[in-house]
Amino acid sequence: MPPWESYLEEHQPRFLDELLAFLSIPSISAISAHAADVQEAAAWVSARVTAAGMEHVQILPTGGHPVVYADWLHAPGKPTVLIYGHFDVQPVDPLNLWTKPPFEPDVREDKVYARGASDDKGNMLVPILAVEAMLKATGSLPVNLKFFFEGQEEIGSPQLGEFIPQHKELLACDMVLSSDGGQWSETQPLILVGLRGGCGVQIDVKAARADLHSGMYGGMVQNPIHALAAIIASMHDPEGRVTVAGFYDDVLPLSDLDRERIAKVPYDESAEIESLEVPALFGEAGYTARERAWARPTLEVNGIWGGFQSEGIKTVLPSEAHAKVTCRLVADQDPSRVVECLAAHVKANTPPGVTAAVTPLAFRAFPYLVPEDEPGNAAVREVLVEMYGKEPLYVRSGGSIPVCSLFQRHLGAYTANFAFGLDDEGAHSPDEFFRLSSFRKGQGAYCTLLERLGR
Ligand SMILES: [Zn+2]
Repeated sequence: MPPWESYLEEHQPRFLDELLAFLSIPSISAISAHAADVQEAAAWVSARVTAAGMEHVQILPTGGHPVVYADWLHAPGKPTVLIYGHFDVQPVDPLNLWTKPPFEPDVREDKVYARGASDDKGNMLVPILAVEAMLKATGSLPVNLKFFFEGQEEIGSPQLGEFIPQHKELLACDMVLSSDGGQWSETQPLILVGLRGGCGVQIDVKAARADLHSGMYGGMVQNPIHALAAIIASMHDPEGRVTVAGFYDDVLPLSDLDRERIAKVPYDESAEIESLEVPALFGEAGYTARERAWARPTLEVNGIWGGFQSEGIKTVLPSEAHAKVTCRLVADQDPSRVVECLAAHVKANTPPGVTAAVTPLAFRAFPYLVPEDEPGNAAVREVLVEMYGKEPLYVRSGGSIPVCSLFQRHLGAYTANFAFGLDDEGAHSPDEFFRLSSFRKGQGAYCTLLERLGR
């Protein structure tokens, strides 16, 4: 038995108490009244990594919620691994759907219930405990290690786009392990190989200086809602393909291997249709639903407004109409270039008699794709196969984790997901929980993975 293993066993009761203390801090990043709680969580994390034996522990300001950095760099010739996670949490409403208050963590049937239990405090504490076990039991680590924990993941990491390039040297590493994520099921591991990026614009269409009488001006003045509807309709063909010029220019085509891996991930289309209560799925022709959601870019109108919407009739010719449009992007699309394409498209497709202004939205994430032979994921795969006794599924996510592409672009390091959350654990929902079996098994798994990376 490696020395860290007995250390872990011996200290489980204390580790559980610490998890409960961490979960009691209401570090909701989205609500400004909780800013001091996010700061308190940063202080808790910095004290905890200090106690684990890490060095150069710092709480660093970002202009928004802080980040916590720590390192241990005494393994010359070994790789430098940066472990990422976040100590902020989602809001808790609606409160009445929680069995127990969200910041009074409650253990039932070997699960801990609290906001942030799975996403990400429970998962984030796991590598800290693993590192403590290795440092206390043997006095050293098999690799050079950095911790980088943030307090603004749940609001899209708005300051990290500047912070990471400004702290390239501090954060420099060979690879990143993310404690923010999970596995496919209790018996099936996964490897995350791709995330979509995103960008968006608001379109503001303007006709006359004020709403007009439709009897006096209808037929003389362009209706901005009609004009906006025409602009929006011009953005897709009837088969769901985006018709914005240049939109697909930088999209990497799906290889046969990509398609094979996506097809291997279990997916029940009719169950999806039933649970969504839609008559059919719809999207770009020539791709499966999974391929469209994971590996093809999309353009969605998120909202549209303008004109008269109250009770009764008001025969008005509105003066303006608005829409918010966002895109999900895939490798190698560049969000800024896509915004330019959208602006050019709106300009070219604005009907006569109105003006249309295009303003970029504060949503800008590069897509992220990991190459097949990436060494971090290869090491993760070996450990997962050992733990679960089967090959992991190679999955992508249609969503965005901006920090992964920031690490890739500015540190030249790929991120391997190594976390043990599961989809049924209610992340972002009432009664969020984390399996304590995952909490325990993750600690040993991190030790094993760091040893493997050291070899
Ligand atoms: Zn998370």
